[in-house]
Amino acid sequence: MEIESIVANTALVRAREGGGNKGRSWKWKEMLRFPHISQCIDLAMNIERDYYSLCVKQPIGKKLFQLFCRSRPDLQNYISLQDALNSAIVLCTALPKFIMLSQSTQCVPILLRHGEICRQRLELNPCGDVFHVCSEDLHDYLSDEPFIQYQDSMFFDRFLQWKKLERQPINKRTFRQYRLLGKGGFGEVWACQVRATGMMYACKKLEKTHVKKRKGETMALNEKQILEELDSRFVVNLAYTYETKHSLCMVLTMMSGGDLRFHINYMGAPGLDKARVRFYAAEICCGLIHLHQKSILYRDLKPENILLDDHGHIRISDLGLAVKLSEGNLIRGRVGTLGYMAPEVIGHEHYGMSADWWGLGCLIYEMTIGQPPFRVKGEHPKPSEMERRIQKEQVTYGNHFSKEAKSICSLLLTKDPTKRLGCQESGGNDLKSHPFFQEINFRMLEAGLTEAPFKPDPKLVYCSDVQDIEEFSTVKGVQLDQTDSIFYSQFNTGSNPIIWQNELIETGCFRELNVFGPEGSRSPDLDW
Ligand code: ADP
Ligand code: MG
Ligand code: MG
Repeated sequence: MEIESIVANTALVRAREGGGNKGRSWKWKEMLRFPHISQCIDLAMNIERDYYSLCVKQPIGKKLFQLFCRSRPDLQNYISLQDALNSAIVLCTALPKFIMLSQSTQCVPILLRHGEICRQRLELNPCGDVFHVCSEDLHDYLSDEPFIQYQDSMFFDRFLQWKKLERQPINKRTFRQYRLLGKGGFGEVWACQVRATGMMYACKKLEKTHVKKRKGETMALNEKQILEELDSRFVVNLAYTYETKHSLCMVLTMMSGGDLRFHINYMGAPGLDKARVRFYAAEICCGLIHLHQKSILYRDLKPENILLDDHGHIRISDLGLAVKLSEGNLIRGRVGTLGYMAPEVIGHEHYGMSADWWGLGCLIYEMTIGQPPFRVKGEHPKPSEMERRIQKEQVTYGNHFSKEAKSICSLLLTKDPTKRLGCQESGGNDLKSHPFFQEINFRMLEAGLTEAPFKPDPKLVYCSDVQDIEEFSTVKGVQLDQTDSIFYSQFNTGSNPIIWQNELIETGCFRELNVFGPEGSRSPDLDW
């Protein structure tokens, strides 16, 4: 390895580790100083007063609403009940705690209505949706009087201050830049770190001239808008968008563990072990279900687009080809990578979510034996021959496949999309009960409570050496003008609220900064 690479990798590994002040700038408190509450009046006037958005969906909003409830003796129990319900929903095992609570708590209206029903129903079906019903009732209660009082409290004022910080302009100086991670169609992807919080991200840069020359505006905006709408632990998050003189930047979840291509090709022989195949397949399945629920068809499943994080969990990335389908509609268009395209895509037919389930079949196949279907090792058939095989030929399974793996692959690689697994009424949920996934507890997996079977080494950098990533070429003869800036302003919207708020919580900045006056009084910045 060359010295340049060693230096770049060492800097990145050090930044990821954090060190003493966790990678924050020594000026971090100044960067995150609350504006005085009098500077938040415009925000107070314009912010949408929606309980769900302010107190449930936005992570800092939720924390402040909970702090407000805990400061009120008459509301404390509701928050304890909420916690108990949330863990009950995930684990289905919090029954004793739940009953204990229901006996001691003062949440009388909600539990009187549901307490007895809950207990009876739970005996019949311990994983039923009774907790959801209770939880909805709880929210109904909190969204009324308590929500109104919250908006008059210092906790809500503090929330406005956080929102003001969230909306600070984002630019190049918001981040420190580390090594190049990869190259895409419109530009490079770099590791970066937020100076104020120490959070690591990957910055995907789109060169303005490249985008313009290849008329990539719609595509770039499409990727940005789809990512922004999503919030799943199985799809990369979009934390910020901003621009520099030469590029448009998307700041994404940092995926330090490399992509599945790297792991299949360089770290498994042949293919990955069974536990890993099952685990990655299950997480991809959850990611696809999330996308499909939002009517988003992904269309680009292949090992290089599935990335691993520090802990060994995967996320789907690169949503450049994803499309949002309008209610019940299908789409046409031969896009994707040939080896992973479904027969109906190749055949110019109309298709829907079926294309993604075919893609998952190809992935499980490739993870198992290290080679995608319809091609033997070292062979490079002509595109027309690949098309013929995908449309006509039966897949062959060697003795590397267990009975269950063979079964799920052949159900997913069914040529007729109407008969394919995942394409019936209940969609991807059909997959979850397939024997291949018998050892997966999907509820735990979706809650992020399952340990990954393989954990990347924090000292390693799982991507090609810096000098082996081809340099990005420059385009000449493209003039940027006024019309381009309309597109740029649609693209550059700064921080994504939910991801930004999570960043502040995860890095501990929220806890350190969110202090009030002595004995729960207002601090000077909150004094009107
Ligand atoms: P394109 O849409 O142009 O194909 P990608 O989004 O696939 O671009 O990114 C190109 C490469 O950059 C990927 O193959 C991967 O190596 C790297 N990369 C992309 N996103 C991340 C990320 N979030 N974390 C780490 N590396 C990434
Ligand atoms: Mg890609
Ligand atoms: Mg792309």
